[in-house]
Amino acid sequence: MPLHIETPLVESRPLGLITGKRIWLKMEALQVPGSFKIRGVGEACVHYANAGAERFISSSGGNAGLAVAYAGRRLRLPVTVVVPETTTELAKRLLRAEGADVIVYGASWQEANEKATSLVGKTEAFIHPFDDPLLWRGHATMIDEVAGQGIQPDAVVVAVGGGGLLCGVAEGMERNGWHDRSIIAVETVGAASLRRAMEAGEPVALERIATVATSLGAKQVCRRAFEWTNTRKVTSAIVTDEQALRACRSFLSDHRILVEPACGAALALAYGGNDALKPYKDIVFIVCGGATTDMEQIDRWLAACGSSD
Ligand SMILES: *Cc1c(COP(=O)(O)O)cnc(C)c1O
Repeated sequence: MPLHIETPLVESRPLGLITGKRIWLKMEALQVPGSFKIRGVGEACVHYANAGAERFISSSGGNAGLAVAYAGRRLRLPVTVVVPETTTELAKRLLRAEGADVIVYGASWQEANEKATSLVGKTEAFIHPFDDPLLWRGHATMIDEVAGQGIQPDAVVVAVGGGGLLCGVAEGMERNGWHDRSIIAVETVGAASLRRAMEAGEPVALERIATVATSLGAKQVCRRAFEWTNTRKVTSAIVTDEQALRACRSFLSDHRILVEPACGAALALAYGGNDALKPYKDIVFIVCGGATTDMEQIDRWLAACGSSD
């Protein structure tokens, strides 16, 4: 039994009317831990548990850490999540509610991650948030489900942080024979590490991350994500934080589901009338979800956007 659920694929009338296209929503926001991450994390945790792991270690205070905490509870294995001091109370509360041991360490993710990896011995498995073939294999199941419903879109829209979701979607498209279908990879202006890699011809690190879409805040994409851009049709699209936030708000009123700015970034392509959608008629949006923001925070961020320009 996998740890993720099969999610609905629904056609969006509001987004269809705005774009003049057929828009499908793959509702990963409905996964129990709040995002698609449980697909890959679940696959990895089951694998490592079968290989004898007695504890899972994560350094993510976001959706990846939540997925590991949930997987540990389901598999009856203890979980340690090391998070930096900047992690919100809401995120820590959600992690503890899943029974994880939360260790707060260091001023930044780098330091928390070093602490987390130092805890990994023979019997602990470190669960990476995006760079592990097991994760990609698990993420790919979302495309198996779409294909299983007989839908064959021209393009799939994904948000990109470290690129694990992109790798999973690409793998799923490949294994379902969608060789000529496109991927539209969306990032925010302050976290455009895939665009940077595509321009440089190899994964390179951004100097800094500056976005409210914290789940997209990987300084460098994994090599596999970059490689897919050479072997498949992958279009890079970039939106502003404000567009991502507005998309979160519109999506809540259109579909009654609150998503994080990371997911709003992908949806912003439909709400903003982006050129990246132009060549396509039938498009699946991965509604990747997100459990660590609330509406008050989105409103505060939006107010801050308004005052800065
Ligand atoms: C992790 C995450 C992303 C980005 O996924 P990557 O695999 O890091 O590219 C996007 N949206 C949400 C909600 C996430 O949790």
